[in-house]
Amino acid sequence: MSVPSAFLLQASDIPTHWYNLNADMPEPMAPPLHPGTKQPVCLEDMLPIFPEVLVQQEMSQERWIEIPEPVRDIYAAWRPAPLYRAVRLEKALDTPAHIYYKYEGVSPAGSHKPNTAVAQAYYNKISGIKRLATETGAGQWGSSLAMACQMFGLECTVYMVKVSFTQKPYRKSMMGAWGANVFASPSENTAYGRKVLAESPDCPGSLGIAISEAIEDTVSTPGTEMAGEMPDVVLGCAGGGSNFAGISVPFMYKKLTEGMPVRIVAVEPSSCPSLTKGELRYDFGDTAGMTPLMMMYTLGHDFMPPSIHSGGLRYHGMAPMVSHLYKLGLIEAVSAPQTAIFEAAVTFARSEGIIPAPESSHAIRAAIDEALAAKAEGKQRNILFNLSGNGYLDLAAYDSYLAGSMKG
Ligand SMILES: *Cc1c(COP(=O)(O)O)cnc(C)c1O
Repeated sequence: MSVPSAFLLQASDIPTHWYNLNADMPEPMAPPLHPGTKQPVCLEDMLPIFPEVLVQQEMSQERWIEIPEPVRDIYAAWRPAPLYRAVRLEKALDTPAHIYYKYEGVSPAGSHKPNTAVAQAYYNKISGIKRLATETGAGQWGSSLAMACQMFGLECTVYMVKVSFTQKPYRKSMMGAWGANVFASPSENTAYGRKVLAESPDCPGSLGIAISEAIEDTVSTPGTEMAGEMPDVVLGCAGGGSNFAGISVPFMYKKLTEGMPVRIVAVEPSSCPSLTKGELRYDFGDTAGMTPLMMMYTLGHDFMPPSIHSGGLRYHGMAPMVSHLYKLGLIEAVSAPQTAIFEAAVTFARSEGIIPAPESSHAIRAAIDEALAAKAEGKQRNILFNLSGNGYLDLAAYDSYLAGSMKG
């Protein structure tokens, strides 16, 4: 008997509200602090960088927040994202586990990032903002925001971490196609970028530095139920924490409010291990120290991650909300080195067809390890992971892995 392997929802199933986990946190999160006064930030502190509606949403304790209709209209072009059962991968691993993945690579930019980029561009637009400046690592965020800005008629400037700017030139082409201006960061375009370059001309860049440049630029220029089973374990790769939160928070809601016995695991690179090796403390989100101080697991805001191919995971900190869940013992975290990640990526591509993004392949690695553990125990286990994006613009990394020249 053949097993159904695709679970597709209708456009009418797109949720009308976002869920805000803060409403159900067993213990409140520590507030962000002002970088100068070290006092909890207030709304006014954030207004030079973000429009008021977005800051209010960030501080909200409401359980459900309505998704504006213009945002839902754009989502409908690629959402609901499909859920697949990786039947061929299960066979290849000869495991009794059932492996499911939600595929976010169907968006025009190729990852989950337009889900928030479209909303952020919309709120900026209705707040009268004409131009956005942002940072990007591998270029997934920059291309998502470039596309979203284009849809709402906003200008977009992107500071792209230099190592990725060189490794992934076609991401830059995508941003250009969507009308954005792209600079390799550290750049000569900002005072902070010039300072970094003067001290270290060969600096490969980092997300922290690119965020500092984008802030300077900004302030100075005015359902699994369809599959008939529920997951025992939910996995997501974690760089900043957004796609991990996206796949896991609906299950966290069930865990907190209904006692659902689900394990939730974040997967990170062993070369940039903010949860597994970082410290829980207040730290800046950027390298220059311009953002509010946030209570999070961090490797230090001046940590320079090695130039791995998973540009989207080269970040020194972890989202405060994800950090808080980890502190409370509500989620687990694991890490894996780059070659183990690509081994999993190639196994997946050869059984499922889709060539995964290097970032997403961290979740695949953990899913395969869970499936192999289930096999060793001789027990069934339902595994769900988020395939946060495709790897069609990361092919140089595949070349390096297949040629045997990849390090780490
Ligand atoms: C950016 C990116 C990530 C990491 O970002 P999160 O905020 O941790 O989700 C993961 N996967 C892909 C494909 C990305 O582009």
